[in-house]
Amino acid sequence: MASRNISRFWEWGKKIICVGRNYANHAKELKNAIPTQPVLFLKPPSAYVREGSPILVPAYTSELHHEVELGVVIGKAGTAIPQSAAMEHVAGYALCLDMTARDVQDDCKSKGLPWTLAKAFDTSCPVSEFVPKERVPDPGNVKLWLTVNDQLRQSGCTSHMIFSVPYLISYISGFISLEEGDLILTGTPEGVSAVQEHDELRAGIEDVVTMSFRVDRREQ
Ligand code: MG
Repeated sequence: MASRNISRFWEWGKKIICVGRNYANHAKELKNAIPTQPVLFLKPPSAYVREGSPILVPAYTSELHHEVELGVVIGKAGTAIPQSAAMEHVAGYALCLDMTARDVQDDCKSKGLPWTLAKAFDTSCPVSEFVPKERVPDPGNVKLWLTVNDQLRQSGCTSHMIFSVPYLISYISGFISLEEGDLILTGTPEGVSAVQEHDELRAGIEDVVTMSFRVDRREQ
């Protein structure tokens, strides 16, 4: 399967579905309850940024956090996909950052408002190169890491996910049909922290793929 040229087009114009609080220790560090069903939110395609371009800090935040996450790239469309067939819909993976304006998110949460400005701004979704499915034999047992200026900030394993990749594909596709090229961000392990202008972020899925991004302030 793994479809026509997906490594080239998947990151353009396709929706990004994100899962929040999918690691118990991260939910705890932000003082959130452990969810009984996945917490979902969206990023628009304009959130994508690739290596070589900077992550831009929006002017309205003073607390931009990194969240390193395993991204799942959908290779075959589906609606209400059963868990038993979920992996047939996966083309591959990507290393992703769910950049989050935490102060804005906290404000939204306290007012019961959507997280859009905290999560969906331009460059809020840095992504690595496409990783073919065969290079990650078990997405439920890979290590994710992230450094800021060569200091280790996040080091986790997808074995600690509350909801597995097949479960997420099945759950999400019950509400939102998945299309070829869509990306699912599967949540972050603990260790999130703030980044500043000029910081250098490096992250990896074990030694399968690595990426680096510089942080800049957005001019307007
Ligand atoms: Mg996240």
